[in-house]
Amino acid sequence: MVKIFLPTYVKDFKCDGKACGSRCCRDWRILLDRETRENYLRLPAADREEIFSHVDESAQAFKMQTSGACPFLDENFLCKLQLKHGEDFLTAICQSFPRVTYKLGEEIFSQAMTLTCPVAAILILLRDEPINFEFVTELKARQVFDFTEKISLPAEKFLLRQQDAIKILQRRDLSLNQRLKNLCEFFGEKISVPIDFDEENHAAALAEIFGEMYDANLTINKKNQLVETYLMHRKNILNQFRKNFSTILENYLVNEFFMRCYPDAFAGDEAFNCRIFVTAYRAVEFAAVLTTISKMRFTVEDFLEMMCALNDKMDHSRGGMKAIKNFAELHDAEIFYSMMIE
Ligand code: SF4
Repeated sequence: MVKIFLPTYVKDFKCDGKACGSRCCRDWRILLDRETRENYLRLPAADREEIFSHVDESAQAFKMQTSGACPFLDENFLCKLQLKHGEDFLTAICQSFPRVTYKLGEEIFSQAMTLTCPVAAILILLRDEPINFEFVTELKARQVFDFTEKISLPAEKFLLRQQDAIKILQRRDLSLNQRLKNLCEFFGEKISVPIDFDEENHAAALAEIFGEMYDANLTINKKNQLVETYLMHRKNILNQFRKNFSTILENYLVNEFFMRCYPDAFAGDEAFNCRIFVTAYRAVEFAAVLTTISKMRFTVEDFLEMMCALNDKMDHSRGGMKAIKNFAELHDAEIFYSMMIE
């Protein structure tokens, strides 16, 4: 019997294209997987021709319209393929989104949801109680990433290790900064002597990462301006941000940790993965400070919008996680602490 370990929020998710303007049916590449293609090939000729007229065979994906929308999205934000032929005619990626599913062992899976879906983001982030987890026995996603070779422990033990880390992230008696420090230590990232936080290099590293994430090709002058602005406002804005959004930030960290399959998300040891995790969170803080400065406010709605956009960049842009990984690769524990652990 298959077992899927997932946050309890997953069962409460209900796709609502009207609420999000069918965000996932726009601008992204919708790949046509083999199983769905075979389903299309069994349809009557007229339906088949209509569907394949919208397929870019060289990319094995749907040809999006000039507006960026999927050719099968109707005016009521519904999928014409699903309406006409049923759920089996959604591609694996459409049927699975926003669920992210990993195969961890022969019959063990983990599943979470990505914040790129605004409806899932509300469900995940705007909750007061800590995120809880459970086992279920029905796998409701066709797109599955095989992590059986990537995780360093047997599946059950890997899940327990993740849960130990998540307990650290959910320690509400500690500040978020302290929790992140404890997490680094838990995964073996230790330093021999206490290190002072180097605010200037911290800001410079984040400006660099931000530029790469947004493919912005920033000139040195622009980067310096960004660093200067960030340093000028950082303390005030972050104090408020961490105080007002502490539960939301905890939920973000827990979901991110579980959803990306840390501490084995990337090739490398646990300490290296933990560095990537912490640096990605600092990039969120950096974006929050810049958003507050440009909007002259920072509401929950601003936060949700920012997180959807940022996750999109981390998941889909060329620079995305690569810039964060490069940073983690380039620095030893001492320098990492001085730049990312406040
Ligand atoms: S999965 Fe999420 S982003 Fe996609 S249509 Fe449904 S609610 Fe919108």
